[in-house]
Amino acid sequence: MSFPSSTKYAVIGAGVHGLSTAYHLAEMLRAQGKGSGADILVVDKTSIAAGASGIACGVVRNNYYQPAMRELMAHSVSVWESDPNAYSYHPVGYMQISPEVMHEQVATIYEQQKAIGYDSVFIEGAADCQKYMLGLFDDWQAKGITSVLHEKRGGYANNTASMYGLANKAEAEGVRILTGVEVKGFEFGSNSGAVTALLTNRGTIACDYVIIGAGPWVSRFWTMLEQPKHISIKGRDGKMHDNVRMWTYWCLEEGTLGVDPNMHRTNDGGFPPVIHVDTDAPLYSDVDGSLITDKLWGLYYKPDFNFGGVQGGSSPYKVDQDPDDVAVDPYGPDSPDFVVGDDFIHTWCSMLAHCQKRFEGKTALYKHHEKSGGLGCFTPDNFPVFDVFRENVYVIADSNHGYKMIGVGQLVAQEVMGEKSALLEPFRFGRFAKGELHPVSNSPFPWS
Ligand SMILES: Cc1cc2nc3c(=O)[nH]c(=O)nc-3n(C[C@H](O)[C@H](O)[C@H](O)COP(=O)(O)OP(=O)(O)OC[C@H]3O[C@@H](n4cnc5c(N)ncnc54)[C@H](O)[C@@H]3O)c2cc1C
Repeated sequence: MSFPSSTKYAVIGAGVHGLSTAYHLAEMLRAQGKGSGADILVVDKTSIAAGASGIACGVVRNNYYQPAMRELMAHSVSVWESDPNAYSYHPVGYMQISPEVMHEQVATIYEQQKAIGYDSVFIEGAADCQKYMLGLFDDWQAKGITSVLHEKRGGYANNTASMYGLANKAEAEGVRILTGVEVKGFEFGSNSGAVTALLTNRGTIACDYVIIGAGPWVSRFWTMLEQPKHISIKGRDGKMHDNVRMWTYWCLEEGTLGVDPNMHRTNDGGFPPVIHVDTDAPLYSDVDGSLITDKLWGLYYKPDFNFGGVQGGSSPYKVDQDPDDVAVDPYGPDSPDFVVGDDFIHTWCSMLAHCQKRFEGKTALYKHHEKSGGLGCFTPDNFPVFDVFRENVYVIADSNHGYKMIGVGQLVAQEVMGEKSALLEPFRFGRFAKGELHPVSNSPFPWS
């Protein structure tokens, strides 16, 4: 097939958002008799799942303190549930296990989950939490826990397999996915600010509409679209704060303990929910007993046959550099800078041992030879921006919340077809100037 010179809908990025939007848009065009997947071209500079979607731990949860995030996640969970085989989705559930400082906020999450019909159980008080956890794992020993939110839905999915599942669905609808095509800039209309063509390493592609799902590369596209590097934000104090950096990079730290995944089962032999623990109990080294931290810390983990062990991560760290100077390429495990090091390995393995006795003395089994971790690009309030810029460019900037957000593409497709989505409304760019910010939680993670 020859290189296309034009397309009606150009989708940039073959990660979760680009592929999900392409697939759902194709379905809607066909169903409404307004076209088909043949009107859609997905381009990616590397390959399907070459970005964050291909290295994500794959956790799918509803647990968010922000009501708008929770409602959006509930929608996405229903998309995962719609075809678990194609999406390589494991609906094992998810647990948020928290200290007293988070108790009240997690209680509101539970109340609101009840209100939106999202199935979960909430346990309160140190003794009852310990009893509940021992009912699941007889070696449970995490300290400082006073609430447990057990989401019965959600779980995790296999990163690359789920992206190929989405790509197959899109291609079955007639969408063309071209890899090895790098977008280097845009051509803008002479009488409008709209994009009229993609300028790529293989030639110019004229287009009517552009959808950008570029994950950690979004700041590059922001520059190509000539958007401001710094913005003004109306803060919670009611005052305008000028000159706030639009994009900030964080490095996510994840890895795998090279044990048989079957060693992490529940007491009844079943596959456990994804475990997320935050606690302010002191964390001691599982190697030499030294104090690692006495501040709030958190980790998450799950047995995972895809990763070949018990896989998970802990809090990310901020990359203190001008976003233009951050080396996003080579990405993920290929990066010389943004992969986990010995500190993460020691800390995360000690966290595992703090939580469950079965992980004590296992640090040496960590998979040192497999590089892991990767960059995420965050907005000023660490929540997504889903909005249209320059009249015809839909930017899906998920602020690194996004592997689990497989349903966002469906909602974006709906908006591209002309129907506004109430679920996406709280994530417009205009919220910064208007001061319509999302509430902030006490969690040690920037994305809770
Ligand atoms: C280590 C790690 C673990 C994570 N774990 C989870 C998790 O458990 N659960 C969760 O919900 N989220 C998780 N996330 C976040 C999640 O992975 C991302 O938010 C999400 O995958 C972003 O999807 P995307 O489609 O926007 O971008 P990506 O998946 O990054 O895809 C972007 C694509 O754009 C392409 N591209 C970039 N520039 C160009 C260009 N100039 N021309 C053409 N193509 C281009 C890239 O090659 C890439 O394939 C994790 C992130 C990281 C880094």
